[in-house]
Amino acid sequence: MPDRIVSASAADGSFSIVAGITTVLVRETYARHQLSLTASAALGRLLTGAALLGASLKGRERMTLQVAGDGPLRGLVADVALQAPDVIGARGYARRPDIEIPLNDRNKFDVGAAVGKGFLHVTRSFEVGQPYVGIVPLRSGEIGEDIAGYLAHSQQIPSVVALGVLANRDGIKASGGAIAQVLPGADEAVLEKLERVAGAMPPVTRQIDEGAAPEDLVRALAGDVPLRAVHEYEVQFACRCTRERVEVALLGLGRDELRKIVIEQPRTEAVCEFCKKRYVVTSDELQHLIDRLEGRVPG
Ligand SMILES: [Zn+2]
Repeated sequence: MPDRIVSASAADGSFSIVAGITTVLVRETYARHQLSLTASAALGRLLTGAALLGASLKGRERMTLQVAGDGPLRGLVADVALQAPDVIGARGYARRPDIEIPLNDRNKFDVGAAVGKGFLHVTRSFEVGQPYVGIVPLRSGEIGEDIAGYLAHSQQIPSVVALGVLANRDGIKASGGAIAQVLPGADEAVLEKLERVAGAMPPVTRQIDEGAAPEDLVRALAGDVPLRAVHEYEVQFACRCTRERVEVALLGLGRDELRKIVIEQPRTEAVCEFCKKRYVVTSDELQHLIDRLEGRVPG
């Protein structure tokens, strides 16, 4: 079954909820990047948070969530864009995908310790105009709380964020999450109630593992409040890398470095950090890039 996200709002306009299942996305990322279990929990939560926030994108907008922490993972990146009006494409990577650390004292993946202290950078690129960049300090490194911190500080939106990845040595069992946001004009009791309901419900990954659909997660979080306007999205692993972008990245190395590679290696390999696709560039092709850099060949 493909990953899905659904969004809905309270009939009285006091809050909105977006919830989804990302098991296939996280499983694919886990396999492509050969992630450790702790790295898959951390990156899986970030990918899930990005996909959920991606439900607010329009047209060709893009959003990148970058966790810059001083922990052993050395940072994480997740990036989302719409593949089609109702299809959210997501991709991401961990700087140190193989890092494994012991479980925490609650017997859970110690994502907070693996991420460490630092900042969450959120870049939102629009179809026209300058991108919006929001930077907030990490609250705990557990990702969900950090995204809630971003929504509170940069967007002034009080929210409840629950993200999870259930994994063991056999791989990724379940992944998903939910974000409930208090809408403008609602009073403080709304957030308190959402927090109470979220605190009392079983972990989202357990609900998903037991067969819950995104609609069930939305319902569980809404409690007894009637909902309206359910919108549905499909989530896919999607990378935007192309050979052209790889060449642009190579050009960034500069003429001297490129010349050195031409002399030392008959062919060079560039690997996309998001999807791990390998691009082979021969020394002839590299020489062509150098010529382009020097303006001898029209680019
Ligand atoms: Zn790629």
